Amino acid sequence: MPELPEVEVSRLGISPHMIGHTISQIIVRQPTLRWPVPQEIQQACGLTINTIRRRAKYLLIDTRAGSIILHLGMSGKLRVIDATTPLQKHDHIDIVLDTGVCLRFNDPRRFGACLWQPADQPQNTLLSHLGPEPLSEDFDQQRLFELSRGKSVAVKNFIMDNKVVVGVGNIYANEALFFTGIDPRKAAGKVSKKKYHQLTEQIKIVLAKAIQQGGTTLKDFAQADGKPGYFAQQLQVYGRKGEQCHQCDSLIESITIGQRNSFYCPNCQR
Ligand code: ZN
Repeated sequence: MPELPEVEVSRLGISPHMIGHTISQIIVRQPTLRWPVPQEIQQACGLTINTIRRRAKYLLIDTRAGSIILHLGMSGKLRVIDATTPLQKHDHIDIVLDTGVCLRFNDPRRFGACLWQPADQPQNTLLSHLGPEPLSEDFDQQRLFELSRGKSVAVKNFIMDNKVVVGVGNIYANEALFFTGIDPRKAAGKVSKKKYHQLTEQIKIVLAKAIQQGGTTLKDFAQADGKPGYFAQQLQVYGRKGEQCHQCDSLIESITIGQRNSFYCPNCQR
């Protein structure tokens, strides 16, 4: 599943080809994605793309009349290609530009989304209910500590809650908790202020590093230029069950927390 770093890398990859250009046509071949693709999306035709933003794992392609909201879901891929490129299976949407290139959205599992946010209407509730961006100053050292008091939910689930902070996916939650020495099962309300300060820093570091390295990938992500992504980051615990901890030689263990595979070092994380 594309995580925040992959979405950010997609944004960086597609932006230079799209910003400042006019949308000449939007072709929707398959309108049944996670939600139906609204007809209103055609309002973007004839308009210039001003910016492309990211909010959590949503991409927002901004025009004067409003924004096209894209979400890659479980298996979505974006490519910037010549609009005449032959179609592949699951190529659901083309956003064609006056330059003859198009942004092509491919999504075999169709959990992705393509929606329309009119410029003059309140923000879509998908976006308005989100917590702060992890790499922004709004995600400061106090936030995790203050929001966690009295909470018995596992700290790993707590930091993966989009209302607490967006975009901390399973891989990055596991890794940040390892670097901070926190057992992922620990009750969120029992983690100290000092540990939360460190955890906040580590979340920022692991995400920034992944973006820098071009986004990590598991299997379904292709980078904006169509080349498959690669798992560049050296992971400390994620996916390493039964292997030796890089810090202490203990064997990495795996458990399920909140239905997600969780990995930790029983010696380094308490
Ligand atoms: Zn260890």
